[in-house]
Amino acid sequence: MDMKIGVIKGDGIGPEIVDEAMKVLDRTAEAYGHSISYTQLLMGGASIDVNGVPLTDETLGQAKKSDAVLMGSIGGDAKTSPWYKLEPSKRPEAGLLQLRKGLNLFANLRPAVLYEELKDACPLKKEIADQGFDLMIMRELTGGLYFGKRSTEPVDGVMTARDELTYNENEIRRIAKRAFDIAMKRRKKVTSVDKANVLDSSRLWRKVVEEVAQDYPEVELEHMLVDNCAMQLVKDPAQFDVILTENMFGDILSDEASMVTGSIGMLASASLNETKFGLYEPSGGSAPDIAGKGIANPIATILSAAMMLRFSFDLDEEASAIERAVESVLRDGYRTIDIMSEGMKQIGTKEMGDRICSYISRQ
Ligand code: NAD
Repeated sequence: MDMKIGVIKGDGIGPEIVDEAMKVLDRTAEAYGHSISYTQLLMGGASIDVNGVPLTDETLGQAKKSDAVLMGSIGGDAKTSPWYKLEPSKRPEAGLLQLRKGLNLFANLRPAVLYEELKDACPLKKEIADQGFDLMIMRELTGGLYFGKRSTEPVDGVMTARDELTYNENEIRRIAKRAFDIAMKRRKKVTSVDKANVLDSSRLWRKVVEEVAQDYPEVELEHMLVDNCAMQLVKDPAQFDVILTENMFGDILSDEASMVTGSIGMLASASLNETKFGLYEPSGGSAPDIAGKGIANPIATILSAAMMLRFSFDLDEEASAIERAVESVLRDGYRTIDIMSEGMKQIGTKEMGDRICSYISRQ
């Protein structure tokens, strides 16, 4: 397969971690007989330095022409970086919002995996951590409360604020389909999270998800109220496979799920649109405090690249080869500083990338 990948290395540790992910992609392509062409794109602070704005129309156009985009992270230290003296719409983060909007990325996927070798970092009780977990949160990204009409005005002489939560059936259907498709590639279970005992939008959500489920008879569907889901994530996370939910609930639950893994440097993410296109990036930021030191953990970006192979290119075997290589490196005791523990071997960003490459093989 020929893959056209847009690459946004970004700011801070971005270039360091993306270089390792590209190395791993190249090694995987070599092992499986694919070819990859990369187009370097400037976004965030790196684009401000060259173009004066965090994202140009030309860059957005190039991103659209790619099959998928791999991204590091953008932004700098808000206290010291000159980027933060600019007005908010010209700062690095504005470029990311424009990119997401311009690419119509409506589905955000965040896996939360507790690796056997990193169980000690899990803040949950030992008997819960011992069971491990491997779940995927699928959050609707372009609708709901964050995009509804809002106002603050006096009503009958009392200052009153209002935020509107709207979903139409098409918005629900397209993300539900995505969640079921992804469950088919996993353990075939979808937990749809809502607040259907109170909200009309949740009742419509439930109805549409049930309709979509008819087309996926192999996938088990359950509904869960969001308050219960927040409890279950810390009580019994092993019960979940794919959690499907709307924008605000997903915002909160995905942060909760990533915290229970205890290792943010390990967490990948993907944002998808209606085609096979996706933007793949680590969950963490640009870590300006450690940029340029060669110590950043590249694993979240490498696992994001694996997600790209699986979801944008349907290369499941190749994605699994990368995931297996990451597990092997951890099993052999290699750690970057952020996941270091007693008795393990501490290595830097490049060595982590090299070691992961050395474990990649066709099965
Ligand atoms: P951060 O995630 O960059 O850093 C938080 C802590 O985690 C730091 O101590 C950092 O050293 C550590 N860390 C993060 N990633 C790591 C990695 N791969 N390996 C080892 N350690 C790692 O969060 P922050 O400090 O709040 O934000 C820094 C900048 O990143 C800000 O400008 C923020 O806006 C930006 N940011 C960008 C994105 C994105 O590009 N999607 C996401 C979040 C934050």
